[in-house]
Amino acid sequence: MQLRYSFRVYPSAGQRTALARAFGCARVVFNDALRARETARAAGLPFIGSGELSKQLTAAKKTPERAWLTEVSSVVLQQSLRDLDTAYKNFFGGLKGKRPTMGPPRFKSRKDTRQSVRFTANAGWKITTGGKLRLPKIGDLAVKWSRMLPSVPSTVSVVKDSAGRYFASFVVETEPETLLATGSVVGIDLGLAHFAILSDGTKIDSPRFLRRAEKKLKKAQQDLSRKTKGSKNRAKARIKVARAHARTADARREFHHQLSTKLIRENQAVAVEDLAVKALARTRMAKSVHDAGWSAFTTMLEYKAALYGRTFHRIGRFEPTSQVCSACGVKDGPKPLHIREWTCGACGADLDRDINAAANVAKAAGLAVSACGARVRPGLVPAQREETGTHPKPQPVTTGRQAGISVL
Ligand SMILES: [Zn+2]
Repeated sequence: MQLRYSFRVYPSAGQRTALARAFGCARVVFNDALRARETARAAGLPFIGSGELSKQLTAAKKTPERAWLTEVSSVVLQQSLRDLDTAYKNFFGGLKGKRPTMGPPRFKSRKDTRQSVRFTANAGWKITTGGKLRLPKIGDLAVKWSRMLPSVPSTVSVVKDSAGRYFASFVVETEPETLLATGSVVGIDLGLAHFAILSDGTKIDSPRFLRRAEKKLKKAQQDLSRKTKGSKNRAKARIKVARAHARTADARREFHHQLSTKLIRENQAVAVEDLAVKALARTRMAKSVHDAGWSAFTTMLEYKAALYGRTFHRIGRFEPTSQVCSACGVKDGPKPLHIREWTCGACGADLDRDINAAANVAKAAGLAVSACGARVRPGLVPAQREETGTHPKPQPVTTGRQAGISVL
């Protein structure tokens, strides 16, 4: 399995200039090639292949208009052509119905918020004995190595994000490792009031470091909206918002990593409802805010399950889970949203709306759990009445952020 590891890098002023040049050259090569293909298409000529584009690039470097392309590593430019090929492949694949539909490749702009260049092994990049990242025609960049790389990467991308930060991103081949088997299974209900509710009754909220980052972002956005358009202070406020955005995204990713790792380590099987189904039931506003977070989180659960030999279930919901008792399975009709707890008329179980939903998610995936925290083996009767619907205290899921973001 291929995993991506990113590290913050701190280029010097001269290196930033060299990187800006590399970003610019990669963009021009991409746009030139895209234009050549589009012109050919408009003229009814055949599609220009990758080999022909490479030849055109080599020829362009010898012209006065494009001579400056020789100032950057040729691998960067070749990789930019590869990116264009990938964009076309995704586009054509979408047209043939093989992939999700994608728009046609678009011209890159200097104003794009994210810029990147890629160096393959051919470029001769390396990590020096002093721990710097040596890039051809750019120099030795200082890297903050926040964790170990599991194996030697062959490719590195250097990315500049919207907040002006630089990252080195390595793709590393990782061998799956099977964790010791455990009997625990869990159903997860992703919600609005709580980030997640587990079928064992645990309610998980966002950790404090994430809520703090979100609060700072909100304040930065308010400050920005009060600044006069076109003013210097507005430009400054905008950079602050971009930085706060970046920090919030980092904090959210860290939280997702910690929680998904914990759930996969502690459980043999994990079930999450299909978010597309869930989204339908939500109001538009809530959906936009939460969808991104949910899908990033479930993606992590899925790849970590594969990596650690665990089972991951994504289940579709055919009927609102609040209508079905997770203890006896009787459907007793819809309940308005403000009803958070009720007693099942059929079996008498006291049910918590959210925990009941999480337990139903697990059951739909064929996992045997009870709604009360006691896990039952398949075929056993539901839990005791006095146990059902208890509310264990929310468990803290964060363990100090100085440990850094672990990939696993
Ligand atoms: Zn019941």
